[in-house]
Amino acid sequence: NQTIVLASRPQGVPTAEQFRFETSETPRPAAGQVLLKTRYVSVDPYMRGRMSAAKSYVAPFEVGQPISGGVVAEVVESQNAAFPVGSTVVGNLPWQRYSLSDGQGLNRIPTDQAPVSYFLGVLGMPGLTAYFGLLDICQPKAGETVVVSGAAGAVGMVVGQLAKIQGCRVIGTAGSDEKVAYLKQLGFDEAINYKTANIAEALAAAAPAGIDCYFDNVGGAITDAVYDLLNKHARIALCGQISTYNATETPVGPRPEGKLLKTSARLQGFIVSDYYRRWPEGVQQLTEWYAQGKLQAEETITEGFDQIPAAFLGLFSGENTGKAIVKVA
Ligand code: NDP
Repeated sequence: NQTIVLASRPQGVPTAEQFRFETSETPRPAAGQVLLKTRYVSVDPYMRGRMSAAKSYVAPFEVGQPISGGVVAEVVESQNAAFPVGSTVVGNLPWQRYSLSDGQGLNRIPTDQAPVSYFLGVLGMPGLTAYFGLLDICQPKAGETVVVSGAAGAVGMVVGQLAKIQGCRVIGTAGSDEKVAYLKQLGFDEAINYKTANIAEALAAAAPAGIDCYFDNVGGAITDAVYDLLNKHARIALCGQISTYNATETPVGPRPEGKLLKTSARLQGFIVSDYYRRWPEGVQQLTEWYAQGKLQAEETITEGFDQIPAAFLGLFSGENTGKAIVKVA
C-alpha cells in the first residue's frame, strides 16, 4: 500500500517538499469494515488551510499523518453488509491506494447516471457549494446581474450555469484566455481574464446595470473592484478567498464596509457543511439538471497516485479548468 503524509507545514506557497510517500502492507478488513481501492482523488483549495496549524472550521492535518479528502473508491473486500464488494462509494478518505473504513461517512453512489468522478465535482461537494451559496445566500432573480470570481473552477463553473438557469446576466472572472473562451461556450454572458484586463474597467463595461449578486471564490483585487459596482440590496456569498491562502502576512486593501453600508448590501460567509442536512436535496436537483442537459460538467484529470501533490499544487497556478481530479485506478 502507499500513503501520502504531510511532511511539513508550508510557509507561503506549498511545494512538493510538504508531501512524503510511505509504503506499508495493504490492510485486511476486520468485522464491520471494508477495504477500499481508491479510484479518484479530489484535490481542493481548502486543503491548503488544513496544512497550516491555524484554527479553522476543520482540524489541521497533522505532520507525519496522512492527508485526506474527497475520494471515490471501490469496495474490494467487505465485512459490512451495507457496502458489498463491487460497490462504488464516495467519502472523506486518506490519500492512500487502499484504505479501511467502518462505513461511517461513506456513501454509495450510482455508476449508471454519470461518470463516478462527478460525485467529487458537479454532483458533489463543489456543486453543492455552488447550489447553496448561490440559491440560498445570493437568491438571484431573473434579469439580475451575477458576478462569480474563480469562474472556470469547480465551484465557479456551476455557479455561472445555475445563475443562467435562474435567468440572470452572468459575468465570470478567470485567469487565462482559454478559460474565458470556455466560460463563453458554457453560456456566460461575459468573461474577463483578470490577469490581462484592467479588472475595474472590464467589470464596469460588462455590468452596465451594476452588480446584484456576487459569488466570491477569490477575494483580493477582484473583490475590491466588484464592491465598487454593487447595486442597492446586493447579496454577496463569501465562499472562498484563494488569492490570500498562501499569504504570509494579513492582506490589506480598501475597506469595504462603506460600500456595503451605502448599498444596504448583505455579505455572508458560509461553509458548505452548514447545509449538510440539505445535501440530498442539492444532489437530487443537480443530478436532475445534469440529466436534462442544463448543467455541464468539466474536469481536469491528472493520472497517477504519485501525481496527487502536483495536481494539488496546480490549483494555485490555475492549471485546472473545472474540477481538478486525480485518477488513481
Ligand atoms: P477551483 O477549481 O476554482 O481551483 C482553484 C482556482 O483558483 C485555480 O484554477 C485558479 O484559476 C484560481 N486561483 C488560484 N490562485 C488565484 C489567485 N491568486 N487569484 C485568483 N484566482 C486564483 O477550486 P474550487 O472551485 O474547488 O474552489 C473555489 C473557491 O471556493 C476556493 O476559494 C475554495 O476555497 C472555495 N470553496 C469553499 C467552500 C465552502 O464551503 N465555503 C467549498 C468549496 C470551495 P484562475 O486560472 O482563474 O486563476
